[in-house]
Amino acid sequence: MKSVSNEHELSPDELEAALLACATEPVHIPGAIQPHGVLISCDAQLTRIHQVSANIEAMLGITADQVLAGSPEELMGSRRLEHIRDVIDNESPFRAVIFSIRTGGRARRFRVLPYHSGSRVVLEFEPVKGQPERSLFSVLTDWQTRLSRIRTLDTLANELTELTRDLAGYDRVMVYRFDEDWNGSVIAESRTEQVDSYLGHHFPASDIPEQVRRLYSIKRVRDIPDATADPVALVPETDPEDDAPLDLSKGVLRAVAPIHRLYLANMGVVASMSIALHVKGRLWGLLACHAERPMILSPALRDALRAVAQSASFQVELIQAHEQAELIARANDSRALLLDKQGEFRQVAELLKRHGKGWLKVFRASGAVLAVGERLEVVGEVPDQGDLESILAWLARESNHGQAWASSKLDATPLGRWVSSSIGGLLAAPLPIRHSRIAWLLLFRHEKIKTRVWAGNPEKRLESSGGRISPRSSFRSWEEEVRGRSEAWTTLEMRAAQDLASDVAAVVAANEISRLNEQLTQMASHDHLTGLWNRYRIGEEINQEIERARRYGGECCLMMLDIDHFKRFNDTFGHDAGDDVLVRVAEAARNSLRATDHVGRWGGEEFVVLAPETSLDDSRLLAERLRQMIENLDLGAYGTVTVSIGVAVTAGKEAQREFVTRADQALYAAKNAGRNRVELATD
Ligand code: GH3
Ligand code: MG
Ligand code: MG
Repeated sequence: MKSVSNEHELSPDELEAALLACATEPVHIPGAIQPHGVLISCDAQLTRIHQVSANIEAMLGITADQVLAGSPEELMGSRRLEHIRDVIDNESPFRAVIFSIRTGGRARRFRVLPYHSGSRVVLEFEPVKGQPERSLFSVLTDWQTRLSRIRTLDTLANELTELTRDLAGYDRVMVYRFDEDWNGSVIAESRTEQVDSYLGHHFPASDIPEQVRRLYSIKRVRDIPDATADPVALVPETDPEDDAPLDLSKGVLRAVAPIHRLYLANMGVVASMSIALHVKGRLWGLLACHAERPMILSPALRDALRAVAQSASFQVELIQAHEQAELIARANDSRALLLDKQGEFRQVAELLKRHGKGWLKVFRASGAVLAVGERLEVVGEVPDQGDLESILAWLARESNHGQAWASSKLDATPLGRWVSSSIGGLLAAPLPIRHSRIAWLLLFRHEKIKTRVWAGNPEKRLESSGGRISPRSSFRSWEEEVRGRSEAWTTLEMRAAQDLASDVAAVVAANEISRLNEQLTQMASHDHLTGLWNRYRIGEEINQEIERARRYGGECCLMMLDIDHFKRFNDTFGHDAGDDVLVRVAEAARNSLRATDHVGRWGGEEFVVLAPETSLDDSRLLAERLRQMIENLDLGAYGTVTVSIGVAVTAGKEAQREFVTRADQALYAAKNAGRNRVELATD
């Protein structure tokens, strides 16, 4: 890879070697430059010249030996040298140093780009054409104004490509965006009709290896006016003093790596210019320009494009901030909605039914699961029940307590085997509630391949190319790379999901508490075996009825029922059978009474019936009917049971104790009189 060659056709072996070397290729020290410019390497004080590019004679009309023997001052004059020193010291990349020289009877003008490289100062000379340039200043101010009104990334990227092509005249201008793993895709494009579209094409991270991406942080612009032109070697090849290769990272003339030339050739690209788009200090994407013919861009125009791209990067940052604020707002909206309606949710299922779809939208998820205890509520596309159980079990085991867990590459995690291939990502936020099993809110995301927008035709392109490095083979490896992967979960999304989970937990807990309250109320007033009111509750009701009778002058009837010889029944059939019978008798009693009547379990095998507004005569009839009904109750193998009933009626002039005692005495009398009968209490 070190050799500089003009060959586009590599043998398979050479190609293999080139591909292997690609990731480690020291692209910053190629020992050569592109032929459209000239390079001179000097000592830091600009007193001596150490290296020159071999084309110096052709470009400046002075032989390499002459230049190497002379000094920078002799070559450029002391005033210009001062200017250069000033530019270097103040690191002002946009300040142009113009150098003109007469060679072959005509004046040639160059723009000089000076930069430090280790202990050397490198001067790169780029030819400047005489033609008048458009008023770049007005272009820039115009762009700023338009930019400030752009609200979406789509519009921004499209306008950026349009403007760039309009200004520079490339055949194809694209905005190429990196994902979190450095895979790229073309999100906007402006092109002539003669060239194919790359819009929507995806490229694997290996297409732009790490060391190349790093160079974009050092030098924002990579300009290759003619990828087919032979590079020009440096003379001597390494520095004569320390034998070190010259680092050309900060320059624009750096020769193109052979593998990159092959790549461009396979796309039919001759001129290529890329400008880095950095967002929040990270390489976000590239503004990439292609032409099928050589394109020497004037340095001033290139600077202008760089400024255009840079302001676009700021706008991307603003748009992203805006989108994040939007996400927070939407997440907050759904939280507010949730908490507002908290009281209305009786079931977790209802919660998901009402809000699930909204959550999917906010989190760009394809499915959601709310797992609380044994319950699993789902919305959208999620793994099936068994797989969800396995996922939850794994999360309970592996997750950091209380922390959300997320992956956009489920395939690469142990959870991969429990999700279908269409799901690429999971964001799992634990609900901060105490439960036998940790409760979770799970959000699943489709894999990217399923959600990508595919434009252009990758199959058509490059049918003719024999090389392996080409957009088409790139697409294949991109596909390999992103299979099973979803869009990454942002920190903001994770935080929002965690907040949502807390709110859901609050709703669930509120539900649990009201359920618990109901349970406690039930327990406090009901008999657990028969479900009838218990002694405490029926006692309360007796008091109320006495009071009512006293106030309004009515009558109220109290019956005391006791199952006859129940001890014997238990002894014969067992205690469980006894329980069953108690339940059956309770049920029968409840069903045979009026809605206004009350029945409760007084204790053991004794029941109380409270019948408001009932005279003594009516009470007798009611009691008799009840007695017969129980006597006729078919208890299957156990046969039948009978009850004795004591009846008392009050006009409200006595306390509960006396009232109950009178009914009790009547019951006692019924027992004494032979059981299975009704006795009325005397006043
Ligand atoms: P009597 O006709 O005089 O009422 O006779 P008895 O056997 O029903 O009366 P006693 O008061 O001597 O015995 C009541 C029996 O009721 C004692 C107990 O075995 C039974 N018993 C009380 N509560 C329960 C219960 O909750 N479940 C069951 N299976 N049996 C109960
Ligand atoms: Mg008894
Ligand atoms: Mg009894």
